[in-house]
Amino acid sequence: MAELKVNREESLVEFAGFKFLLINSEDGLNVDRVQFHNAVIIDGNDRAFIRQIVRRIRSDNQPDIYLKPIFILKGININDPFVNKLVDGTLFSLDQIELIIPEVERILTKTKDLHFTNSLSFEAQMIEKTISFMYTCEIQDLEPIPYIYSSNNYSYPILSVNFRQRDEHIALDILEIAEREGIFDSTYIDRIYLCPSCQGGHLTYREVCPKCGSSNSTTEDIIHHFPCAYVGPLSDFTNEIDDQLDCPKCNKRLRHIGVDYDKPSVLHECKACDHKFQDFNVKAKCLACTTDNLVEQLKGKEIRKYSLTKKGELAAINGFVSTSKDIEEIIGTVKFETFVTMLKYEIERLRQTEGASNICAVHLSNPSQIYSKMGSEVQKVLLKDLVKVIRSNIRSSDIISFQSSSTIILSMNEIPTRIAKRILSEIIDMLKRLIATTFKDIDVEFEYEVIKLDYKLSPQLHIQQLTKAFG
Ligand SMILES: [Zn+2]
Ligand SMILES: [Zn+2]
Ligand SMILES: [Zn+2]
Repeated sequence: MAELKVNREESLVEFAGFKFLLINSEDGLNVDRVQFHNAVIIDGNDRAFIRQIVRRIRSDNQPDIYLKPIFILKGININDPFVNKLVDGTLFSLDQIELIIPEVERILTKTKDLHFTNSLSFEAQMIEKTISFMYTCEIQDLEPIPYIYSSNNYSYPILSVNFRQRDEHIALDILEIAEREGIFDSTYIDRIYLCPSCQGGHLTYREVCPKCGSSNSTTEDIIHHFPCAYVGPLSDFTNEIDDQLDCPKCNKRLRHIGVDYDKPSVLHECKACDHKFQDFNVKAKCLACTTDNLVEQLKGKEIRKYSLTKKGELAAINGFVSTSKDIEEIIGTVKFETFVTMLKYEIERLRQTEGASNICAVHLSNPSQIYSKMGSEVQKVLLKDLVKVIRSNIRSSDIISFQSSSTIILSMNEIPTRIAKRILSEIIDMLKRLIATTFKDIDVEFEYEVIKLDYKLSPQLHIQQLTKAFG
């Protein structure tokens, strides 16, 4: 039986070889210490404090901090759905610590599978964080929860925790990017509307005067008297003595609605400008920036449930470096799809002419080691430099593309394959020299491959063949 050691001075709980950081409300909010422990136990009755600590830990940028298991002591019933999605369990007392050990072990083991990289862009960084957390906690689906404290009214806690309330709409854009990259599949849940000025979703909808926009108005029924065909507002028919209605035109008393009269419509009167009208405009006032928007101008956004794909799981393990947009920004390259299309034409051309054309690939064998040592700006510089060297050694009619942030593919058309191989090996030597002089302490390993185009094979098979040797 393992011994439970509690050292309140050091905020340390030890059990079965695991170190827990015990945080209570007197300790303040410094979360740096989390990295030196296996898990966190929050000790406190104050829900606001618990929420704050959980947010601090989960929104940190270091995997050593944001992936740590978090438990709440004293079995406090957390009715905040946001916090609920971000903690790993509750304990009634420290004597129950044995019960959470399997969960802690499972999360820490899963964390060991992961390679972390410095992603090229903020978007890629957020995607990496989210899928890493999902992987370690074995969460398959990122579900939107209705949440009144979210500026979108729906929140994806694992991702949204990284944003201030007013920036939460960015989470929606990031999820869309991640889906385009194949990291998630999604299904429709609901639709929300956002203020076009500030992207806030806290809107109050009102019927307003079409002339002056005021929401201050009165409404009256319009009455149509059948016998004399008089049409007018209800107030024309009322009298001061009783609650009966009399026709102002023919003086007959109205009897039964549907029999001698009906109410075909209503009439609104604006109390601000006295304008009389039958149809309101509907406006949505943004409570964040006070812009009063016509509803047609609101920005509709779909709220979807996102599920991690196999590709997403692999990206969690290997590190998610870049989105296609990041790579598109590298000058001198074409989109991967464009490359495939042009490859198709070249294969088609070879069917009709004699000659040799080739495609080549340059692969960084250890991308996560490289990228984890560089900030995203430096990574972009590296990729740009690589492209520059390749570009200056091939013909201007040849094209370069990124299949991923670690694999560059290029065409070398109308030259014998053995010459293409020689040129590529020279390019690799130059790339190695470039890296050695520019990035002193970074060890980059390259692999490369050249294949001759075969008009009997599809572009996809060529690319598969070309890159199959790379890990
Ligand atoms: Zn607004
Ligand atoms: Zn008005
Ligand atoms: Zn009448």
